[in-house]
Amino acid sequence: MSDSHHHDHAHSDVSTLTDIQKRVKALESILVDKGLVERDVIDQIIEHFENKVGPHVGARIVARAWVSPEFKKSLLADATNAINGELDFAEVGQHLIAVENSDELHNVVVCTLCSCYPWDVLGLPPVWYKSAPYRSRVVSEPRSVLEEFGLDLPQDTKIRIWDSTAETRYLVIPQRPKNTELMSEAELADLVTRDSMIGTSDVLTTADQVNT
Ligand code: FE
Repeated sequence: MSDSHHHDHAHSDVSTLTDIQKRVKALESILVDKGLVERDVIDQIIEHFENKVGPHVGARIVARAWVSPEFKKSLLADATNAINGELDFAEVGQHLIAVENSDELHNVVVCTLCSCYPWDVLGLPPVWYKSAPYRSRVVSEPRSVLEEFGLDLPQDTKIRIWDSTAETRYLVIPQRPKNTELMSEAELADLVTRDSMIGTSDVLTTADQVNT
């Protein structure tokens, strides 16, 4: 083994790492030592998932759909094409389907098999999304699960569950909140939370923003 990973830069104390973090670090060291990957490539991938992709990308897509009926139409027709063809701040690799919420219909996304998730537009999935209880219960008792997330839907709003696969990912287009006619696209994007694009919460209102 080379000593190429006796770093001179500061590292976090290994004793404070979780088991998973230790395993990831060990795996990274082995891959680097064997020359299978380069550390800067790993750093670039991490940087990509931490900063470039994330819910802010999805939020901008939703805000664009709210202000531009034309874009919304093409987004609902073929989200991958609409995003890759019309937006400079986002790029989708997988087949993405956008589903729109209304007073009549509320959409929720899950992956019942594992943890498929629209990484390109939402970044890393939250821990609960990958948990067994969410994956099974959101299908069998969606209304109670949504209530536990703090989302009380009217009884006559239908709930539709979309099960992601390796080939197909879903992005929920939440309803635009009332009294936001004067807001800019960027201000609107700030109202769009990650969970509202999974379907487990509402978007923020301007009142929420004042309070946070
Ligand atoms: Fe999956």
